[in-house]
Formats: sequence, C-alpha cells, structure tokens
Amino acid sequence: MAVFVLNKHRQPLMPCSEKRARLLLERGRAVVHKRYPFTLRLKDRVGGDTQALRLGIDPGSKTTGLALMRDTADGQRHVLCLFDLNHRGFQIKKALAQRAAFRRRRRSANLRYRAPRFNNRTRPQGWLAPSLQHRVDTVMAWVRRLSTLAPITALSQELVCFDTQKLKNPELSSVEYQQGALLGYEVREYLLEKWGRECAYCGTGDTPLEVEHVVPRSRGGSNRVSNLVIACHDCNSAKSSQPLTDFFATDKGLRKRLKVNGHTADTRLDRVQRQLKQPLRDASAVNVTRWVLFNALKATGLPVSVSSGGRTKYNRLRLGIPKTHALDAACVGAFDTLHDWQVTTLTIKAMGRGSYQRTRLTKHGFPRGYLMRQKQVHGFQTGDMVKAIVPTGKTVGSYTGRVAVRKTGRFNIQTEQGAVQGISHKYCTVIQRGDGYGYHLTPSINLTGGAGQAVA
Ligand SMILES: [Zn+2]
Repeated sequence: MAVFVLNKHRQPLMPCSEKRARLLLERGRAVVHKRYPFTLRLKDRVGGDTQALRLGIDPGSKTTGLALMRDTADGQRHVLCLFDLNHRGFQIKKALAQRAAFRRRRRSANLRYRAPRFNNRTRPQGWLAPSLQHRVDTVMAWVRRLSTLAPITALSQELVCFDTQKLKNPELSSVEYQQGALLGYEVREYLLEKWGRECAYCGTGDTPLEVEHVVPRSRGGSNRVSNLVIACHDCNSAKSSQPLTDFFATDKGLRKRLKVNGHTADTRLDRVQRQLKQPLRDASAVNVTRWVLFNALKATGLPVSVSSGGRTKYNRLRLGIPKTHALDAACVGAFDTLHDWQVTTLTIKAMGRGSYQRTRLTKHGFPRGYLMRQKQVHGFQTGDMVKAIVPTGKTVGSYTGRVAVRKTGRFNIQTEQGAVQGISHKYCTVIQRGDGYGYHLTPSINLTGGAGQAVA
C-alpha cells in the first residue's frame, strides 16, 4: 500500500512506495505525520508536482470499499491504496431499539407517569434513520480525510445495481443476452433485483442463481428480458425445455423445495406469471442511502462519475480479480486494465466515541454499574492507539493496539493477535489519538514476496 506524503506546509503530494518512505525516514528528510493511514511529512519540500487521483467508492450496508487510484488516458488504472470501511449501523440500530424498550418499560412499570415519547416529533425532509445516516457520514468523513492526504481530483461511485440507460425499457427491448458481456451483467443485476435475489420458481435464496429463459429458445422464446428469470441450478436444469405450467404441475424436486421455503405450487406459479409481465418498479431499484451519499459527494465540488453494479462485476470477472469491498471499489466505472491491485487493505472499523450514558444496564434495563465521570486516565483515553513495552512480569513483551482505559491505571490493549489485559499505563505511549475508528491491515489475497508489508 502506498504511503501518503505531505509537504512542509501539510499539503498533499503524490503517495510514494513503502521503500521510498523507509528511505525518506532513514535520511531524516521526513517525519511520521500520522500512523493510520500511514502518512509522512517532508521537512524540506515546499511545492511539488502532483497527478490527478481518483477515489472509487463501493457503498455497502456493512462495509464500504474505498480505492485510491490513478487513471491514465489510455484506459490503464493503477491502484495506490485500498480501504475497507466497516460501518456500525447495526449497533446503532440495536442501541436505539434497546433505549426505546427501556423507556417503554418505565412507562408501564409501577413508576411515576411518563408521557409517551415516540410519536410527537416531525421528521425533516430527507431524514434518514440514524443507522443509515451514519453510513453516509462515515463515508463522507473518509472522503474528506483522504482528500487532505492525497491530491484527489475525481470521485467514482457505484450508484445503482444495473444501468437503466443501457436497459432502456428493458421489458420490451430485445437484448442480446450474452453471458460474460457487459450487457449480460447489467441484465443479470436487473433480474436479481426484479426477482428479489432468490430463485423465481422455488424461492431459494443463498444459492448461485442462473439466468433462465421461461419459454426456451428451442420453442421460439425470445431474448427479451420479459422472457428471462433468475433461477437456482436445480430448477434451471429440471425445467429444461418444459413449459412453465408443466414444470410446476409435475416436478417433484420443485415441490419439495417450494415446501421448504413455505410456498404452494399454485400461488407461486400465479406470482411468477404475474411478475413476468410487470416491469421492475423504479422505487424498488432505488437505494435511498446511495442517492443521499451521491448528493453529498457532489456537494464536495469534485466531479463525481457514477456507474452500475453490473459494470463493476463485469470488470472484476473480466480481469479475474477476487471479490472484496475494496477491490470492488477499484473496479467501479469504465477502464481497460487494472494494475497493482495486489496491495494490503487497511480495514477501518467505525467504533464510535464511547457512550454518553454513564450507567451500564442489564438486558432488563436495571443498573449494572457506572462509568466514571472523566474519560481520561493518566492522559490516555479509550480508543487511543498505544504502544506498550512491558519489561517484566507475566505480560512481558511489546504490544501495539487500541487501548481500553481502566480507572486503576491497568489498561487492556486490543492487538492484532488478540487482547492483553492489565497493562500498566507506565509502559504505554500514545502513537495516535483515538478518532472513533479502529484500524488493522489485511494482507492482499495474492500476496507475493515482501510486497504489501506495512511500514511502521
Ligand atoms: Zn429454484
């Protein structure tokens, strides 16, 4: 992974290689500006030439992939840095639901009267649930943060599952459906969305799905999307060239699978026939969070280009690139070849900044214990990255990681190898102050030799 470089006045220069970073540090020409992501600041350099960099974004519900890359005019794309940003939307949702439940108990329990507080507020326009707003906010925080570390001049976002421009009036137009071509992936994503990412016949999810002709080509079926469904392998091969009604009436395997998934053959057949004629409603294809993110990205003033999930998948499979969130972000948009994608990924985990509430509760909402008033202990705070060198005792050794402070002055440190407990504050030094995120490096899948080793 490339190392970020700033000039003397803290303005971003081109990221450099790890080898060059090591040399700059050894010769005393640079100082470490930031550990995560690793950033150097040159002591002498004032100006400096920069090239245009692009930040690719693949938004996901649990993890958003970010890729810093350089596009050249002839369609070559060079990957510089990869990031996986892990969101905490599910924790936020859980915490809010729990708080609501505790309040509800206090209203019904034999306590003083409390007015209900759930239906008396209006929501401003464009309101997003806190768990979803958090995804937008953290992605934007990292777009801004990376813009201060590298000369980013353009953004690329995966906005939609499939390209509506390419599939204009998809139900009516005859697309030459071809496995492996760009249009093929757009059609596939469209069908996945239309049939709810499960087998159109038996309703099985969690299985590889194949594109299927309802009226087979051999019986004069067309290539129109209205004649295509998405089906599991069992259904696809069992149906073969039968008409739809015969397949539902006779196939034993299908009946068994329908039963497992809680459907009856008649209602399911009815649903398939009805849905075949209906085009995918626009609303169901729109992911609100992605659009909010898109508008937020546009507000940065940088040019934002958008592309479809179909194209990302086409690029990834065409170039034989493994599926990770960060590499998906590197495959967003149009380009010919991808270079240097075998770099370490920095996983950034949103951890929050602790709780405002000082009382810890049991699952029934009764007090279990109390947090201390102040957050700092001996100058350390939970979330700081520390290095501890313990000279003697049971925990002798050197540890680097995220610290959890205790009032006693004996801290817990979360290292890459696991947690160590009871480390005295006397042995700890801060290497980076807590910023609400936890970090660790994930080596590349096809790592060869010493490439991708972290400096630090
Ligand atoms: Zn099936």
